[in-house]
Amino acid sequence: MKTENTVWHEQHIDKQQRAELKQQKPCLLWYTGLSGSGKSTIANAVDAMLFERSCHSYLLDGDNVRHGLNGDLGFSDEDRVENIRRISEVAKLFVDAGLIVSTAFISPFRADRALAASKLASTEFIEVFIDTPIEICEQRDPKGLYKLARAGEIKDFTGIDSAYEAPEKAQIHINTDGKSVEQCAQQVVDYLAEHGIIAKSKAASFQ
Ligand code: ADP
Repeated sequence: MKTENTVWHEQHIDKQQRAELKQQKPCLLWYTGLSGSGKSTIANAVDAMLFERSCHSYLLDGDNVRHGLNGDLGFSDEDRVENIRRISEVAKLFVDAGLIVSTAFISPFRADRALAASKLASTEFIEVFIDTPIEICEQRDPKGLYKLARAGEIKDFTGIDSAYEAPEKAQIHINTDGKSVEQCAQQVVDYLAEHGIIAKSKAASFQ
């Protein structure tokens, strides 16, 4: 039930101060792409590269979030929207804490991604499109889900019997076909350095 008598309490330490302490600009990297496209793998590799550079980051992985916070949600249209809403709200709090947050969810619908984007300043929301052709995703099939979907054992599977609306203007567009995980992750880290979100190099200090 919605609580009506709550007021947002301003905190003594604000986002700017937390970010300065961490020597980075907080943001949300919103990975989107088909199942098996490489979202989790690349987001994990980026997280490790950021850690290596002493950046403060955190990855909210789709399946892991469904184990806890969103464990009560299924895959109906209503539940999918609620799933994205909760993830966006948690990500917003983590950005407020000064972190570079990554989320790795298929998030097939533009409207849902727009909802997530609307919670943050435009410079804080960075859409990362992991663009892998469905034939390659299906060959990889890391969780065996395409096989189940083709056998009709999973309904409304994105790319098979449910649409994937590709981003039109993702800030970062990665074609994974023929590239190593490291090359793909490096593309994200380079973007962050070029846009002043992290220091230019491992050795450089943040200005
Ligand atoms: P998603 O999170 O999008 O469902 P996963 O990251 O779970 O996808 O799976 C992607 C699979 O593709 C992994 O088994 C990974 O090792 C493999 N893979 C091969 N090449 C790449 C690449 N360049 N980038 C990301 N993943 C790749």
